[in-house]
Amino acid sequence: MPYNIDPSALVNIPCPQCGEKTAQTVATIQTSPRLRCPACGTMFAINARKVMDKLRAVEEQAELERRRRGV
Ligand SMILES: [Zn+2]
Repeated sequence: MPYNIDPSALVNIPCPQCGEKTAQTVATIQTSPRLRCPACGTMFAINARKVMDKLRAVEEQAELERRRRGV
């Protein structure tokens, strides 16, 4: 695995029905890709791959930033 993503990191997953965001850990997203929205009760599937791609992009950006600062 080229990137180390903390499995306990929280990710906000928006409900496709009402837009309410639920914070889920990376571990949960990877193991149980179905969520119930706490606001409207809608069950929806998480696109784990899409979420992880987004996280990696964020992680890469942070890494670039660190290099720029020379830390
Ligand atoms: Zn909802």
